[in-house]
Amino acid sequence: MKKLIAGNWKMNLDIGEAVKLIDQLTAELNDYDFEKADILVCPNFTCLYPVHELLKDSQILLGAQNMYHETEGAYTGETSGSMLKAVGCSYVILGHSERRKYFGETDEFINLKISKAQSYDLIPILCVGESLEERESDRHFEVVKSQLLKSLSGLDKDEVLKTTVAYEPVWAIGTGKNATSSEAQEMHKFIRDEVISGIVGDGSKSIRILYGGSLNENVSEELLSQPDIDGGLIGGASLKFGSFTKIIRSIK
Ligand code: PEP
Repeated sequence: MKKLIAGNWKMNLDIGEAVKLIDQLTAELNDYDFEKADILVCPNFTCLYPVHELLKDSQILLGAQNMYHETEGAYTGETSGSMLKAVGCSYVILGHSERRKYFGETDEFINLKISKAQSYDLIPILCVGESLEERESDRHFEVVKSQLLKSLSGLDKDEVLKTTVAYEPVWAIGTGKNATSSEAQEMHKFIRDEVISGIVGDGSKSIRILYGGSLNENVSEELLSQPDIDGGLIGGASLKFGSFTKIIRSIK
């Protein structure tokens, strides 16, 4: 399957900094063979429009880091799926562990957002992953399965197949301690063969499952060459032009 390398910029980079990074990326990836991988950047909301303008002649894709599940109305501070579509987004990250932790997002709430994103033809990147305590008490498979089943509940098969999953162990995010390739591969295989195949059968082979959590240029080749790892969701290293492009170029 064609890989996806996605940069989650989180609450970093103002417009000037975003423009600089995009200028560097588009220049560096001028000769890139986009048959090898789809490349996606997810800036903060204030940078979506300027980045969209800069990416008009590029194959780099644009995504958002969140959206609200209502169509429009009195929801101060929120952004709708149609607004994301209008600014050129094709992807939206949903259920990131930072949203679960700091903003109390539940699987049920994330489920509403996934469903709404699908209705706008936005590809949701559904983030799941266990905490350190859950892994140490050997509950990581059960936790990830429950997050997936609840977040995908009520979606039809087509919608499930159009969802990208990101396995992001919470203990690996922003800590500098990535999952080993065997830990990640084991979980990705479980997600595909035990959970998603239970919903869509054989179709699970075509669903994209990204790994996220301290992915950097030193470990990317090994992690991204695992059979069930279809790309990466990258935080810190996506802010550094050199690291992000080395990760992209580590895909053979
Ligand atoms: C993320 O936040 O999605 C992430 C994977 O962050 P980092 O790469 O910094 O661990």
